[in-house]
Amino acid sequence: MHWQSAVITGIEKLSPRVKSFFFRLPEPFSFRPGQHVVLRLTAPDGYRAQRSYSIASAPGTVMAEQLELTIERVEQGEVSQFMHDAAQVDDEIELGGPIGGHFNWIPEDGGPVLFIGGGSGVVPIMSMLRHRAAIGSRVPAALLFSARFREDILFFEELSKLAALGDGLSLTITLTRETSAHSLQAGRIDAAFIGRAVTALTVLPRHVLICGSDPFVEAAARGAIEAGIDPASIKTERYGSPS
Ligand SMILES: Cc1cc2nc3c(=O)[nH]c(=O)nc-3n(C[C@H](O)[C@H](O)[C@H](O)COP(=O)(O)OP(=O)(O)OC[C@H]3O[C@@H](n4cnc5c(N)ncnc54)[C@H](O)[C@@H]3O)c2cc1C
Repeated sequence: MHWQSAVITGIEKLSPRVKSFFFRLPEPFSFRPGQHVVLRLTAPDGYRAQRSYSIASAPGTVMAEQLELTIERVEQGEVSQFMHDAAQVDDEIELGGPIGGHFNWIPEDGGPVLFIGGGSGVVPIMSMLRHRAAIGSRVPAALLFSARFREDILFFEELSKLAALGDGLSLTITLTRETSAHSLQAGRIDAAFIGRAVTALTVLPRHVLICGSDPFVEAAARGAIEAGIDPASIKTERYGSPS
């Protein structure tokens, strides 16, 4: 793996538990939307910890020195807690990659495409949607995005703007734990939920990309298959499991 020392140029709070970190890369690279990098921390005594983080930015923008990683703070999480609680603008952080040849989609792959993201699992999908919009693609696409509470919806304004462009992208957000009144959907992403999204696409999606925690990905993939989607058209990316 090729490592480089990237500099944090900005930190933005997206929700109570999620921050985006913007990096300047001394050696900018090209990547496919959906790929990730490995972030490596080294303590003064030489102890090292490394974790994978999906790239949120679209390809092309990284050439403008802005690589965006969006990191959720996990309780007792070694690397995510360091990034949230200690990392600051101008700090140097080692990044390796980009890697990941499986969980990718570009408009040239065709559609319709159904994206299903749970929590921070929407991050690589953001890269794909930003790229789709940047090149003016009209490939039919739908995003089902599950968050716990209203405040946990990442990239809400940007996603709403993308969905309002009228270029064939539909956005459905569901909140699994919000009890106060809201105009979004409620409940978990299951077969019935996915079935309704598939109906909105009018034809079965040719590509389905699901990303989130292990239990989320398993439930969504099961739901997609029950909704009639060919398992061969499903790609998944698993972020790990809450203990
Ligand atoms: C390909 C890939 C891409 C990823 N992209 C992102 C991303 O864009 N944004 C992001 O926030 N994370 C992403 N992850 C998850 C990330 O790599 C780390 O696993 C996560 O940040 C936890 O690391 P940690 O060192 O803070 O916690 P650890 O010290 O590794 O774990 C602490 C505790 O938290 C639990 N835990 C581990 N992972 C999770 C999780 N995802 N959710 C809840 N509990 C967990 C563990 O079981 C453990 O008990 C990605 C993972 C993979 C494999």
